[in-house]
Amino acid sequence: MTDVHAVTKSFPSPGVSFLQPPPHGTGTSPSAVTNALDAQLNPSSDDQSTCKYLKNIHMSERLMEDFLNAASSNTTKDLETCGVLGAFLNNETFYVTTLIIPKQEATSNSCQALKEEEIHAILNDETLFPIGWIHTHPSQSSFMSSIDLHTQYTYQMMVPEAVAIVVAPSDDSRKYEIFRLSDPEGMSILKECKETGFHPHKEPTNGASIYEDCSHIIFSQNLRLEICDLR
Ligand SMILES: [Zn+2]
Ligand SMILES: [Zn+2]
Repeated sequence: MTDVHAVTKSFPSPGVSFLQPPPHGTGTSPSAVTNALDAQLNPSSDDQSTCKYLKNIHMSERLMEDFLNAASSNTTKDLETCGVLGAFLNNETFYVTTLIIPKQEATSNSCQALKEEEIHAILNDETLFPIGWIHTHPSQSSFMSSIDLHTQYTYQMMVPEAVAIVVAPSDDSRKYEIFRLSDPEGMSILKECKETGFHPHKEPTNGASIYEDCSHIIFSQNLRLEICDLR
């Protein structure tokens, strides 16, 4: 069971102190956050009906730029960079407060986080949801590779709102895009796929796309972003 005292101590954390007071003066209590976290991180059933309504995600306007700056030395060497987005939940809204850049191994078209326990420690200590991930395509456009789709599946299984941000600095038409797997179409294709490495996926039979642009993102000037670079 989660230690309520530990949660009380770390909530609200310094990372979220920029937040304006909730409109009705009633913030989500620490125990409510803990319960929500437990419920979402440990889904007790396969009931997909709870996944259809997506909570909005607020994130800093500077997130992509800050990440690109942190990635720049890799980008000039044509190596990908990846990061994990930590968000805290208040009044049914996610606020991305933390960008974790883990130790990692990369090529020009892949990136693998190392020491994932260091990521989980930060998320746990600050009671943050893994609300998605961000990575660069240093020399390609923004799209989701088959490996990216499998990575995104694991995030969306944990948190239905989870997003994949692909930053493509060399693509002049779209510098970044924010994706998620279509649900249930893309999610069920990835659930059944056992292949590894780069491989083709069949398209959903109903004409839907396997992944889609996200519409539940709100960019904010006022959100502070803490960057935890573990490299
Ligand atoms: Zn990718
Ligand atoms: Zn696959």
